[in-house]
Amino acid sequence: MKPIDEFTAPRRGTENCCLLLARFSHANIVAALRQGSIEMAKMKAVQIPKVRGAFELVERDRPEPESGQVRIKVQACGVCHSDSWAKEGSFPGVHYPVIPGHEIAGIIDAVGPGVSTWKTGQRVGVGWYGGHCGECESCRRGDFITCRNLRITGINCDGGYAEYTVATTQALARIPDELSPEHAAPIMCAGVTTYNALRNSGARPGELVGILGLGGLGHLGVQFARKMGFQTVAIARGSEKEAPARELGAHHFIASTRDNVAAELTRLGGSQVILATAASAPAMSAVIDGLGINGRLLVEGASPEAIGVFPQQLIRERRSIKGWPSGSAIDSQDALAFSALSGVRPVIETMPLQRAAEAYERMMNGKARFRMVLTPGH
Ligand SMILES: [Zn+2]
Ligand SMILES: [Zn+2]
Repeated sequence: MKPIDEFTAPRRGTENCCLLLARFSHANIVAALRQGSIEMAKMKAVQIPKVRGAFELVERDRPEPESGQVRIKVQACGVCHSDSWAKEGSFPGVHYPVIPGHEIAGIIDAVGPGVSTWKTGQRVGVGWYGGHCGECESCRRGDFITCRNLRITGINCDGGYAEYTVATTQALARIPDELSPEHAAPIMCAGVTTYNALRNSGARPGELVGILGLGGLGHLGVQFARKMGFQTVAIARGSEKEAPARELGAHHFIASTRDNVAAELTRLGGSQVILATAASAPAMSAVIDGLGINGRLLVEGASPEAIGVFPQQLIRERRSIKGWPSGSAIDSQDALAFSALSGVRPVIETMPLQRAAEAYERMMNGKARFRMVLTPGH
């Protein structure tokens, strides 16, 4: 029994390594691994064993990239509120045990058969969107993020709370040199979700745009809104968020526990767009009257409660409410490039992989300032 690295890693000064590589083509290696005739290399990972199970630090086989996939050495992985769907089993299709994490930044470490464009050594990110089926109606219309059979990183396939992960090439976004892995990781979900919603919102430069909630998504939403040229208003619960909100670029700040949010927004002229990042339906209900003519509430925070709205709140001002999912890999790549270009950076707290449970608790308790990022490479 030899570890797989003996067969896959060409070593300097080893005369017969080419022979070995020829004998052990990718298909041979995979077959040998399945038969158990050679040993898998191992990696550390944090998994959720079952619905509502505790996080476990485990040693797992290092995954091998299949056709159309690459293996990524994970340098950083953000901790997103949606990881709770994997933990609680509250999203359909979670396969247990599951390695959560869909804000991945790392380096391509191996490529599977049929992969030609992507090379080892490239810096890449992977987000919620893990690849599309290509056959459902959404895919046939080119709308990949609404694919009916979406591969979802850290939900129906393993994610980034690990030293290595595999991803389909469809899911890869290039990371620009200006961004560290720790800063790139949160852009892969919190970043692309807010960036993509704002750039498709129809708001024009100078118009009033509200960002409801100042957490992982909201603190990036405020920065993106400012850099996109919108008059940016941050809306959070307490006035203690005012100073950080203004530092992030907010022109205005409204504290929902102190101010009448809708009245304040109306005083500012009415919001063209409010990006609702807080997972609170009551907070969303309270801002609807602050929307201006044609104002849109874009819903991103997955609240378990219903939004309360009377039809007449929507009719006269032609207001609307719509949801917004994150985006596909090219949207993430655009979000990364825009962040590099404009100086948008997530504000992060890093923790090593083995402290994943603590990082998750800190995020769930709303204590993260503003995004927890695991660093499996450290
Ligand atoms: Zn997320
Ligand atoms: Zn599809």
